[in-house]
Amino acid sequence: MEEVDAMRGLMMDVPLTIPSILAHVMTNHGEREIVSRADDGIHRLTYAEFGRRVAKLANALRRMGIGKGDRVASFAWNTHRHLELYYAVPSIGAVLHTANIRLFPEQVGYVLDHAEDRAVFFDSSLGAALAPGLAASPNSAQRVVVSMGGRSPAVERALDYEELIAGETDTFEPDVQDEWDAAILCYTSATTGDPKGVLYTHRSTVIHAYACSAADALGVRERDTVLPIVPMFHVNAWGIPFSTPMTGAKLVFPGPGMDPKSLIALLDQERVTVSAGVPTVWLGIRDELRRNAATLPHLERFIVGGSAVPAALMRDFDALNITAVHAWGMTESSPIGTVSHVKAALAGASPEQIEHARLTQGVFVPGMQWRLVDPAGKDVAHDGKSAGELLIRGPWVAARYYKNEDASAIAFKDGWFRTGDICTVDELGYLQIVDRAKDLVKSGGEWISSVDLENALMGHPAIKEAAVVGVPHEKWIERPVACVVLREGAAATEEELRAWLGERVAKWWIPDRILFIDTIPRTGVGKFRKRDLRARFANVLVSQAASGG
Ligand code: AMP
Repeated sequence: MEEVDAMRGLMMDVPLTIPSILAHVMTNHGEREIVSRADDGIHRLTYAEFGRRVAKLANALRRMGIGKGDRVASFAWNTHRHLELYYAVPSIGAVLHTANIRLFPEQVGYVLDHAEDRAVFFDSSLGAALAPGLAASPNSAQRVVVSMGGRSPAVERALDYEELIAGETDTFEPDVQDEWDAAILCYTSATTGDPKGVLYTHRSTVIHAYACSAADALGVRERDTVLPIVPMFHVNAWGIPFSTPMTGAKLVFPGPGMDPKSLIALLDQERVTVSAGVPTVWLGIRDELRRNAATLPHLERFIVGGSAVPAALMRDFDALNITAVHAWGMTESSPIGTVSHVKAALAGASPEQIEHARLTQGVFVPGMQWRLVDPAGKDVAHDGKSAGELLIRGPWVAARYYKNEDASAIAFKDGWFRTGDICTVDELGYLQIVDRAKDLVKSGGEWISSVDLENALMGHPAIKEAAVVGVPHEKWIERPVACVVLREGAAATEEELRAWLGERVAKWWIPDRILFIDTIPRTGVGKFRKRDLRARFANVLVSQAASGG
């Protein structure tokens, strides 16, 4: 025993913290550039300059009385200022809450209150989107509000970011001794009701960044230029704000210019080599490139995930010599779980087999443990055919939700997180999602709750029953379609129901079609058999999508 003890503690106890990533990039790659298109135009700064601005912000936050454990919200595009928040807030021991700008006002109010944010930093062009959310939160009066990239008439009382940091000194002492301290809070949609918070630690964030840096994961090198299109309010833009500075690669931020034309211009001008975004974004970029018979000669590859990548998208970019790398992840897993690369075992395989492998969600990255289980909790075979729910665990997987015991009790069991994704895994370890157990529709990377839509529809006097399912859509990958059964003798039109929903849910939630059917198929235990409805109406939006609807 003594001998064992004598062998302990011979390696240094250096905590894994976010400020250590900042120190690394400033010391070793201080000359490398960050380019950011923000509300007030293009900014160019080196990592060294960036680090000095982070220090100023950290000092300003401290002057505002923000410290250990306090929550600070961002409501922002991908910009250098958002990145400054990513580093300054956790480095003083506070927690950055990256609020989703697509939530509707009540939800924004809910997350600000649930997180008990003491301050909100927002991009000026998002002032009008934030204002109703602030108004919906009873605690907003006490909050400090800071506008970035100029003033917003919608939030008049906001302080100006540049004025706030201008007088501060450009060095600071980080205050994180414990790698288990909370760093970043991100909310994800629940099947119904309020969003659920996932609270990343310094440790989980740093280990995730290392895992992402592996060659068969995101594989970014110092000489790369990386443009994250995936928003920084979505699972930390897939960890890119940490994994890219770790490598010293150049970072480019698109800010509010999220339309295909603006993105193409920036990808081209800044000679971006690696990018990342959901399929909807890449479909838009593909169409715009096609219209102009253009290409992106510097772009080598992009990570695509959040929804399954369509085969045509991968092929179209292959033809431009740009590789689409398919990945799977979740808010609860920081998010990277799997990345699809062609394994050595496929050398000499047919083009069809290789394409098939690339179109799967990929192979698990080291550190991510997984199981596939049937409804009774028994492991199913990894034969590429047997489907089961995917369970995961690992150093960057959530152990429970933030202040939400009810949702935690459902999702976390016996040390595993239940993903709600129904999958197969083949003999080579390729994961493929074949169905979704959770009652949510993912439209262009954002969740829509089918249960909330059903409840809203069933509140209509003419409706007896309503089931909402996600069906394939060319642009948004998936859109909601409602199947409704009318009460006997009652009448309603699609338009009428649409207007009804318009008063109750966000506009982009309204189903593309509301179909009147005789009965909704049910399982043995009386639940809606949504799988049948999805199969029956799989093509109902195809013609609409083709005409741009
Ligand atoms: P979020 O927490 O919003 O990132 O959503 C995570 C969920 O999105 C997963 O559980 C899947 O249902 C879905 N998802 C993520 N990546 C993919 C992918 N590559 N293919 C299919 N579905 C995906």
